Amino acid sequence: MAILVQKFGGTSVADAEKILAAARKAIRAQKQGYQVVTVVSAMGHTTDHLIELAKQIDPDPPAREMDMLLSTGEQVSVALMAMAIHRLGHRAISFTGAQLGIRTDSTHTKARIRSIQTDRIRQALDEGYIVIAAGFQGVTDTADITTLGRGGSDTTAVALAAALRAETCEIYTDVDGVYTTDPRLVPEARRMSRISYDEMLELATAGAGVMHNRSIEFAKRFSVPVHVRSSFSDMPGTLISWMPESRSVPVCGAAAILKEARITVRGVPDQPGNAAAIFSRLGARNIATDMIVQNVAEGGRADISFTVFQEELPAALRVVEETAREIGAEGVNYDENVAKVSVVGLGMAKQPGVAQRMFQALADKGINILMITTSEIKISVLVERDRAVEALRTVHAAFELDKEPPQAEEEARPEELGNDRDRIIGRLHGMEDLVIESICLDETQACVTLSNIPDRPGLAARVFRQVAEREIVVDMIVQSVGRDGKAMMSFTVPQSSYEAALAACRPFCQEIGAAPPTGRPKVAKLSILGTGLKSHIDVASRTFKTLAHSQINVEMISTSEVRLNVVTTGDKGRQALTVLRQEFAEELLDL
Ligand code: ASP
Ligand code: MG
Repeated sequence: MAILVQKFGGTSVADAEKILAAARKAIRAQKQGYQVVTVVSAMGHTTDHLIELAKQIDPDPPAREMDMLLSTGEQVSVALMAMAIHRLGHRAISFTGAQLGIRTDSTHTKARIRSIQTDRIRQALDEGYIVIAAGFQGVTDTADITTLGRGGSDTTAVALAAALRAETCEIYTDVDGVYTTDPRLVPEARRMSRISYDEMLELATAGAGVMHNRSIEFAKRFSVPVHVRSSFSDMPGTLISWMPESRSVPVCGAAAILKEARITVRGVPDQPGNAAAIFSRLGARNIATDMIVQNVAEGGRADISFTVFQEELPAALRVVEETAREIGAEGVNYDENVAKVSVVGLGMAKQPGVAQRMFQALADKGINILMITTSEIKISVLVERDRAVEALRTVHAAFELDKEPPQAEEEARPEELGNDRDRIIGRLHGMEDLVIESICLDETQACVTLSNIPDRPGLAARVFRQVAEREIVVDMIVQSVGRDGKAMMSFTVPQSSYEAALAACRPFCQEIGAAPPTGRPKVAKLSILGTGLKSHIDVASRTFKTLAHSQINVEMISTSEVRLNVVTTGDKGRQALTVLRQEFAEELLDL
């Protein structure tokens, strides 16, 4: 019999009536012929209240006791949900994380799931029970209760669906699906009927707060179709699954993180190891860095800029200022009034001119772009915070995201994944381990650099219009604020287009009084593809460290949920590939 996992979030079990409504959904699914596992969160704002209560006693409570406390929220919900089903005349049995056999590591308050023992659940299902599972919690090898981090019930649900080989995991919530962008910021936002795992992952970290990101990583790792839908209606929601890379729409969604801060380390001596030092120390303090841009070095020194969440700025600055002194950088500056706006789409990898369209739309509104980073399926720009919502709305309109895409697109599992789910599960030490699908080398690209260009709205749009007019395909783009309000931009193009790209930029540089474009006719681009590249925050610093150790300089970098790209000098590609494969040998799946 097929298994269905349904998850009800806090708002969907906020009171007795809602619990009964959720119970009816579970019963209905069972009547339709499914074996049903229902995962529930704590009621309403229970978890927030418990945290508040703890803080009244100790502002920095012991993490183990915090987990002991927080796990009670879900324990209340499962019991009530089981009672509700019972009251409606059906069989149900509730289980805590420990009873479910959810083993985690011992990182209290943000534990990762290692394994799930499904025997007891299966037995209950076979006996006709609806199984009610406590979300958000697990247990260590030494029987201590852990929790999975805020919003972790999504992860419990998808993990159970993976372990039980469920047909689908339904996430019932207070919105009716995943939107093209946040409808509270952009009223034209539209519900998507489908989205791919990678797009959802990118959108979620770009600021779309629908689901716990680790749950999407889980879903992708184990190919679990996830259906996000409303608890308060029966309308279909959004299906998250595999989709063809050749999606016809270049962009499927847009998102913003309104509270970012930019940090620039100026004049870093351009030697391998310096970037590694900065990022590994931030990583060691658990500070996640986002957009990372390193300006190509001039006069033996480079500027390294990156963003962090604004709330982490003070902690990040302390680490960075100390490191900057040690490595002999010239100084550190920052800007805390910035926001990041991103567009995401599998289809953009195969279509030229997508970046140009975004930059042009922003230019037309006079919105200045402070930084740019791109990956294969995402373009992110940093803008001033007070223009961010307007910027989001502008790009939403530019890609016509308010309109239904022309044709319905089908699920397309990548060939090689076929039935590999079991093999992947077998190889993992823990179900949430970092998985690297491949590390590859692209030696076909060249890199063009424009320096000292005035930092004004419309600049990026003009550069890429010139380039697009010559039908040159641009791959990676990075732009950052250099010195004295002058920006610096680098982008990669096919080697065969290198001269044409330089020629396209020359008149423009001349006109604005900037230095002529420079570049390298041959660079090597290394890509690490996988799942968990951001939630395991040391991947970027391990990459830097490994390359630095072999004296390989990183010239450009871009990070995303599913990919980390680094560009090095052309003759270092093979060597870089070898050392990176060695570094990640443990995690690398050779599918
Ligand atoms: N109750 C937990 C929280 O509020 C877990 C969840 O709701 O997913 O974060
Ligand atoms: Mg919650």
